[in-house]
Amino acid sequence: MTGNPSTRRPAAAFIGLGAIGTPIATHVAANTTLAVWNRTRAVAAEFASETGARDADSPAAAATGADFLLTCLPASAQVEEVLFGANGAAAGLEAGAMVIDCTSGDPATSRKIADRLARSGIAFIDAPVSGGVSGAIAGKLTVMVGGDAATLERGRPILETFAGKIVHCGGIGTGDAVKAINNALLAVHVWSTAEGLAALAKLGVDPAVALDVINSSSGRSNTSMNLFPERVLNRSFPRTFRLGLLDKDVGIAAGIARDTGTPAPLLTETARLFADAHRELGEEADHIEAVKLVERRAGTTIGGRIQ
Ligand code: NDP
Repeated sequence: MTGNPSTRRPAAAFIGLGAIGTPIATHVAANTTLAVWNRTRAVAAEFASETGARDADSPAAAATGADFLLTCLPASAQVEEVLFGANGAAAGLEAGAMVIDCTSGDPATSRKIADRLARSGIAFIDAPVSGGVSGAIAGKLTVMVGGDAATLERGRPILETFAGKIVHCGGIGTGDAVKAINNALLAVHVWSTAEGLAALAKLGVDPAVALDVINSSSGRSNTSMNLFPERVLNRSFPRTFRLGLLDKDVGIAAGIARDTGTPAPLLTETARLFADAHRELGEEADHIEAVKLVERRAGTTIGGRIQ
């Protein structure tokens, strides 16, 4: 790190320019001197040409000189890989730097990563996000943070570039844990709403009519109020959040229940169902397409009526 920190823009690095990483990085680029690295290099080259960020040729090169390194990768295993693998980002960071991991990761691996970085004097927070791609574009994500309060305060100006709400959940890994449980609830809602509407469709009830009732009654959820009307009834199934990532999140949630000795038959079964859906529908499917597996098993279709 060079220059007087009080008079210069912070130097940042960003790794993982995927569906949600790209809009987050766009906000960070507008407020820092940013370097980026992405596994598919053309994605980073395009991002750099659009934002003026530096396109680095390795994670270590991106991290060199950075006060803050942000990561937004599928899972904690890939965070470990980009930090500690060949030409890993940790090798480019100096003592005093800070890693902000926006991956929806798993608590145990985040603690392991934090311990390893701490040995080099590098701070870490897990900072997964909710609000989807639209929330990221609007700079209004909710960020759930695990780590100590002083470290969060140091990273807050960076988080504020893309957050509408920042919540300190507790020690390292607790942001990941809250995120996994939140997404497990999303998965429960998607699957159970699909089961209920499929059964009603087989009884001859129009799913749009059923949703009209549910959405002014106690069974409603974000899934019934927004996702089904906007993505299922009109069969649009836009690809915003991969089914494989939700499968991973529900698996983390079921693992947290298991590791804490919390009986959780519903979360455990939901994890099994989403693993089935991921296997049957593949890597490219969106999370809402899990509905298609419920439909296939029920022998019916929910919707088709254009909203
Ligand atoms: P994507 O699959 O769109 O992007 C993943 C990114 O990780 C890409 O940049 C990809 O590079 C990179 N990557 C994958 N594997 C590796 C690897 N082995 N080494 C280095 N880089 C790798 O995911 P999202 O952007 O949707 O999600 C990122 C994280 O954010 C996940 O943890 C997800 O659960 C979470 N999240 C996503 C939300 C969403 O709405 N999409 C909402 C909230 C959280 P490449 O370009 O080469 O594929």
